[in-house]
Amino acid sequence: MESCDVLIVGGGPAGSTLAWKLRTAGLDVLILDKKTFPRDKTCAGWITPAVVETLKLDTADYARGRVFQPIRRFVTGIIGGKEVHTGYDAPVSYGIRRFEFDDYLLQRCGARVALGEPFKNLKHDGDGWVVNDKLRAPLVIGAGGHFCPVARYLGANLGADEQIVAAQEIEFEMSAAQQLACNVAEDRPELYFCDDLKGYGWIFRKGNFLNIGLGREDNHKLAEHVSSFCDGLKQRGRIPSDIPTKFHGHAYLLYPLAPRQLVDDGLLLIGDAAGLAYPQSGEGIRPAIESAILAADTILAARGNSRRAQLEPYVAQLTARFGKRLHGEAPPIPGRFAQQLKQTLANWLLRREWFARHVVIDRWFLHRQQPPLPG
Ligand SMILES: Cc1cc2nc3c(=O)[nH]c(=O)nc-3n(C[C@H](O)[C@H](O)[C@H](O)COP(=O)(O)OP(=O)(O)OC[C@H]3O[C@@H](n4cnc5c(N)ncnc54)[C@H](O)[C@@H]3O)c2cc1C
Repeated sequence: MESCDVLIVGGGPAGSTLAWKLRTAGLDVLILDKKTFPRDKTCAGWITPAVVETLKLDTADYARGRVFQPIRRFVTGIIGGKEVHTGYDAPVSYGIRRFEFDDYLLQRCGARVALGEPFKNLKHDGDGWVVNDKLRAPLVIGAGGHFCPVARYLGANLGADEQIVAAQEIEFEMSAAQQLACNVAEDRPELYFCDDLKGYGWIFRKGNFLNIGLGREDNHKLAEHVSSFCDGLKQRGRIPSDIPTKFHGHAYLLYPLAPRQLVDDGLLLIGDAAGLAYPQSGEGIRPAIESAILAADTILAARGNSRRAQLEPYVAQLTARFGKRLHGEAPPIPGRFAQQLKQTLANWLLRREWFARHVVIDRWFLHRQQPPLPG
């Protein structure tokens, strides 16, 4: 039987960030992941400067041989409508490839790893847990993303009674001919909202890689929305006509609507497993690494005591950072007239340059109003 102080299920940004902080404090940490790394993750691969700062990312080292695309401009609008251009003097975000980013963070964190090994079971063992009948730890962290198996042990009814955002995406390396046919600038992601405001599509070029996707608050006819979004982009000569057709789907929870229980005796959830993505943009990497930092603070303050009461401060810290959750209550549904009024108003606002800059980009997508969490 192998043992460690903290066993983390999932080696994505949440898991590797927590491991990095705990290892720095001298704890023995083991990360279990069903995939071998490097591995891909369905994601647009957009990170904000706050992520770079909290992770203390050595950008010169990172950019050596990896995609690290500064972003200085944006195009926003409603799908098929007027395009609004917003520019900045310096980079306000970066494009990365999850294939590279997650592997870099995992290698950097200094934890022991068990890769290519899926989580199978969790059993009580005295004051702690045994995972897969062979790994013993007093504290097990669920960092396995939206479908994290540890979340089930905390009562999550994955995919059943949760209000999810569903998204589909492709990322591929363009051929020379496709690069010529692609009219998307490398430092300028394009974001287009669905006209019912229930989601948005994006095109994001990172060097020779093109990332196209669309996410919506409901899964209904998602593939049709994606295909009509892509058809429109092709008609306007934005993207090559021969992009791959097999999009990858994934789901996530928006923080205010995530009903999951986050801690119990010897168990704690971070990142997408906890359902932390920002509601307007769906950005999840920043909340994932911030939740890991907050969890590390709580775990270190608990000094080896993993009882629920010792882990509760983490939940309070998440609330202080991200606000209150609705705990399963549905948000008020506006009446039909109110919905139409909201749509008309939003359509009008989304054409305005000041709204695009100060609300859509600065607040919703860059979260500039919230200073980075010290890493
Ligand atoms: C289409 C799409 C686009 C997105 N674009 C962005 C973006 O541009 N910027 C942004 O900030 N966020 C984006 N997000 C959200 C972002 O991808 C997530 O919030 C982020 O990956 C969460 O990190 P995590 O470490 O919590 O989980 P993950 O990155 O999902 O990592 C979980 C890890 O757990 C492992 N795992 C899962 N199940 C098991 C198991 N049973 N046993 C062992 N290991 C397991 C997985 O292999 C994986 O390595 C996007 C999401 C989607 C769906």
